[in-house]
Amino acid sequence: MAENKIPYKIYLDENEIPSKWYNLRADMKNKPAPLLNPGTGQPLTAEEMSGIFCEELVKQELDDTTPFIDIPQEIQDFYKMYRPSPLVRAYCLEAALDTPAKIYYKFEGNNTSGSHKLNSAIAQAYYAKKQGLKGVTTETGAGQWGTALSMACAYLGLDLKVFMVKVSYEQKPFRREVMRTYGAEVTPSPSMTTEVGKKILAEHPGTTGSLGCAISEAVEVAVTNPGYRYVLGSVLNQVLLHQSVIGLETKTALDKYGIEPDIIIGCAGGGSNLGGLIAPFMGEKLRGEKDYRIIAVEPASCPSFTRGKYAYDFCDTGMICPLAKMYTLGSGFIPSANHAGGLRFHGMSTTLSQLYHDGYMEATSVEQTSVFEAAQQFARVEGILPAPESSHAIRVAIDEALKCKETGEEKTIVFGLTGTGYFDMVAYQKFNDGEMTDYIPTDEDLAKGLNSLPKVPGQD
Ligand SMILES: *Cc1c(COP(=O)(O)O)cnc(C)c1O
Repeated sequence: MAENKIPYKIYLDENEIPSKWYNLRADMKNKPAPLLNPGTGQPLTAEEMSGIFCEELVKQELDDTTPFIDIPQEIQDFYKMYRPSPLVRAYCLEAALDTPAKIYYKFEGNNTSGSHKLNSAIAQAYYAKKQGLKGVTTETGAGQWGTALSMACAYLGLDLKVFMVKVSYEQKPFRREVMRTYGAEVTPSPSMTTEVGKKILAEHPGTTGSLGCAISEAVEVAVTNPGYRYVLGSVLNQVLLHQSVIGLETKTALDKYGIEPDIIIGCAGGGSNLGGLIAPFMGEKLRGEKDYRIIAVEPASCPSFTRGKYAYDFCDTGMICPLAKMYTLGSGFIPSANHAGGLRFHGMSTTLSQLYHDGYMEATSVEQTSVFEAAQQFARVEGILPAPESSHAIRVAIDEALKCKETGEEKTIVFGLTGTGYFDMVAYQKFNDGEMTDYIPTDEDLAKGLNSLPKVPGQD
């Protein structure tokens, strides 16, 4: 089809919203390593998991053989409130960069939560409701996950308790109020309301918190309150599964116009949007049908893929969660205080970790001032005010497009624009005032976290 026929936005019809999630693990020869019980060092059983997670979600977590899983009608109906999301041809950015590259982005920010997280929030809330639970607990860092989950819980009539990383609770009062508007109870973490919170505060007085701390608190509340389970917005296999709607829609839209990407780029915090975006493409790659360059982008100040170790580690700071084999900086790792760009989790999805380890994808890290430069440039020409997290992917998409300008190659670049940055104006303000700084942890800084990885019998 002729180039000029490709519209600015490729929208799908409602009936093209996927009716099944794609489970990438089914096509992996080397399956992601199982979660381990930290007490016994043995793979966590479904029964052990069901004390923390909803039953259906445990099934999804453990299922690494079923390629397609039906999306219940109720979830499909909710998806229709804000999906399909557009695949945008970044004509204006291409012109501004004067590049022969063709740039596309899948925009997931067009809902009140402002990010892709709603795709998994509604699924997890649905299964909790179906199990007859009273409510769920969770953590939130920047606040997008908590907001998404509060929307989903309000819709289904579930109670929600959110532990919000203290620095965000203070810097992002409006996010907090959105969650409360949807009915969530929001507590700054670490807090004195849990045993693990008290312990962390005793060891690190004045800490501004981390996702790892907030996870510990949310899990403690879930396992000590009957009728509650814990839900997590990223990292887990089930979350990547739900997020596959991003990639499936992207593929459908590209296929309509016969577009084949050369490079697929996504930011990586815990790995859920990237895992979702690349799912069907990685499937083709794993089955030997196609090849793509796939790039994960992470902050230089929280570099789990590029400088972490591939080892079993705790997902939380309090060391009460199961052990996951992943690229990690150590569960005690907390990014430096100047870090404003999100993506601050110390570990990474076990699925993406295995794929990266096996050479199916690349990873790169970028510094935050260069990320905000890319965000500003993108906002001015494409109109959307991007989330700092998403802007990591914008940075690398721009860099790849500029390489094409030098070589004259007309590569097709697809990146995930995961959300909007309206609640990140404190970070933008720092950038606009010229006060944003970069801090790259030294090897010494990282050694502390890496040396404290747990010893797991039978693992290297
Ligand atoms: C949470 C979030 C991310 C990072 O999480 P992943 O699980 O790695 O996708 C990226 N972008 C936005 C806008 C987010 O809210």
